[in-house]
Amino acid sequence: MTQEQWGALRQELFKTVGQNNFKTWIEPIEFSDLSDGVVTFNVPTNFIGNYVSQNYGDLILHQMTRSGHAVQRVHFAVAANTAARPSAPSATCTPAAAPSATPSPVSETRDLAMTGAPLDARFTFDSFVVGKPNELANAAARRVAEGGPVTFNPLFLYGGVGLGKTHLMHAIAWELQTHRPDLNVLYLSAEQFMYRFVQALRDRKMMDFKELFRSVDVLMVDDVQFIAGKDSTQEEFFHTFNALVDQNKQIIISADRAPGEIKDLEDRIKSRLQCGLVVDLHPTDYELRLGILQSKVESYRAQYPDLQLADGVIEFLAHRISTNVRVLEGALTRLFAFASLVGREITMELTQDCLSDVLRASERKISVEEIQRKVAEHYNIRLSDMIGPKRVRSFARPRQIAMYLCKQMTSRSLPEIGRRFGGRDHTTVMHGVKRVEELRTQDAQISDDLELLRRALEA
Ligand code: ADP
Ligand code: MG
Repeated sequence: MTQEQWGALRQELFKTVGQNNFKTWIEPIEFSDLSDGVVTFNVPTNFIGNYVSQNYGDLILHQMTRSGHAVQRVHFAVAANTAARPSAPSATCTPAAAPSATPSPVSETRDLAMTGAPLDARFTFDSFVVGKPNELANAAARRVAEGGPVTFNPLFLYGGVGLGKTHLMHAIAWELQTHRPDLNVLYLSAEQFMYRFVQALRDRKMMDFKELFRSVDVLMVDDVQFIAGKDSTQEEFFHTFNALVDQNKQIIISADRAPGEIKDLEDRIKSRLQCGLVVDLHPTDYELRLGILQSKVESYRAQYPDLQLADGVIEFLAHRISTNVRVLEGALTRLFAFASLVGREITMELTQDCLSDVLRASERKISVEEIQRKVAEHYNIRLSDMIGPKRVRSFARPRQIAMYLCKQMTSRSLPEIGRRFGGRDHTTVMHGVKRVEELRTQDAQISDDLELLRRALEA
């Protein structure tokens, strides 16, 4: 087959696959050779080769056979020297390089190079409230934000939604931009990483892509769980990651769970991600929620100087709203906006009215069984002994504690609770609850146990 014949075949393919697919997949492949029934095409990357082979291999075979060529197999070879084709100058990501007004190949490449995801001006270390659940993550983030010698690579931050991962990532980026302007910092989400990767493949700019990602000093990738199951993106991420680690460049990654727990993530990537420092943001506790709300209220005071806030409202919200800080902030914002609209003091009643849906949604539905199980576990007794008839202290005390927690944390009535504790009478439950209330103030151990159990159940 000659190049001219391949040209004619391409026209046929164009009609069959449509313009977009043609541009993305067929155009990048080059006819190289046909011998012994094997047709070979050069492709810029393995990814394109695999894709075309899987999706258009049969079609190519069919059309070639139809036009009289003896072909049994289509083969794709990654061209050794795709870089040799004329392309834009290599990418840089110097923040100072302003995009030029007239789009030229150069500025196009630069644009691709420079734009990380925009940073949120509110997400700084100053505005990050530190408490027990996030102090380790905060300390680690501050350490890498100093931009000193790389001590742990990568820094892997993980935690549930709305616990401050993105906030901390942005804070690091801000800090580095301010104090280490000499460093190229690139922050983006894993989704954007994939998008750029695919775009580079399509535009045949893989060399630029690789060069860009290998030329940063600090690479920050948010929500890395997104690439799980996306094989070619994972592959590219893995190579980028290794290249940077080899150069001793800092990498900071976030995810919604620990590396080992991300499903459909290649094992070699998991183990790479675990190589550095892995820290998690724990679900917020009452104190942290209170701290965050107080700092938010402070900033609202400037915005709504006349607004009155009744005692206890902030505590109520910290207690009742779930661990997700985004939800907490949203609730407060709505409350202030509503109160200023109607020109009334923020009372408990107004709060409950205004936020009834949020409060309902974040009502934790903790079951009696859950409490019984947790308490039995905590005191190392069997569930059957907790519920059963034995009255020895070592079973009776945990039983009373479980009853107390059921009364506090569920909406069950005393008779209902009694029924679930082996059919006990409601007066027995009442007695148990009273006893624990007394002990709570007298016995530090019991008060600690209660606090621990409450936290564990609320988490
Ligand atoms: P994630 O990325 O973990 O889902 P974000 O970083 O987007 O969560 O945080 C959600 C919201 O909660 C943001 O507005 C963020 O500023 C705020 N937030 C989370 N944790 C804190 C904290 N410790 N102090 C102040 N604001 C916080
Ligand atoms: Mg986030």
